[in-house]
Amino acid sequence: MRTPLIAGNWKMNLHRPEAVALAEAIRDGLKKDAQAEVAVCPPSVYLDGVAQAVRGSAVAVGAQNMYHEANGAFTGELSASMLKDVGCKYVILGHSERRHILGETNQDVNRKLLAALAAGLSPIVCVGETLAQREAGQTADVVWEQFFGSLAGVSAEQATQVVLAYEPVWAIGTGKTATPEQAEAVHADLRKILEVRYNSQTAQAVRIQYGGSVKPDNAAELLSQPNIDGALVGGASLKAEQFLAIVAAA
Ligand code: PEP
Repeated sequence: MRTPLIAGNWKMNLHRPEAVALAEAIRDGLKKDAQAEVAVCPPSVYLDGVAQAVRGSAVAVGAQNMYHEANGAFTGELSASMLKDVGCKYVILGHSERRHILGETNQDVNRKLLAALAAGLSPIVCVGETLAQREAGQTADVVWEQFFGSLAGVSAEQATQVVLAYEPVWAIGTGKTATPEQAEAVHADLRKILEVRYNSQTAQAVRIQYGGSVKPDNAAELLSQPNIDGALVGGASLKAEQFLAIVAAA
């Protein structure tokens, strides 16, 4: 039985007082009997403050990115152990904004993933096709390539620490959501890929989130699909009541 993970990706939004207040509102509003695990991923400069605000609660903290080296002359970068140090459990890797705006490759994602796992972080690895790729019938190929490229050298045991996030690029921040059927089809494919690459036990254990304009009014239907194990939420994670409504839908 996979526990759904609802994670909020705050991206480059909010300033310290709002970030801490949002974390506190989520912490205080989270129902004791919530059926989902919850994580918030603030901008890196607020990780420490947010981690302090949610310490001792059921809300976990994740970073939005990291660098693969352990330390050294890499100006502006943060290592996996630094993220652990400030209380992170998760790190988002290969988000489409990093792939498409900042030019991150599968190889970059793979290096970061291996370093994150070695440091004891759980990576949330994003995969997903652009609209042009979907319209050209390339969704399965794109997802396959991103999966194998990003998870190269990851053992079956390590894979159970990884969370996959299927995020069709055309649905991110656009208000367009994949239909539950469209999302479920790709999630089922990813589950099959996990089985081919590893084994059925691993495939059944790995959580696969959906991301792309998840809102309180579409969350329940998406999250009721058999292979959708939570959501990576952008815009709607910036309002505590919307985010908590998505958690409740899980
Ligand atoms: C995201 O950036 O991961 C995301 C899913 O954003 P939104 O929910 O705003 O589409």
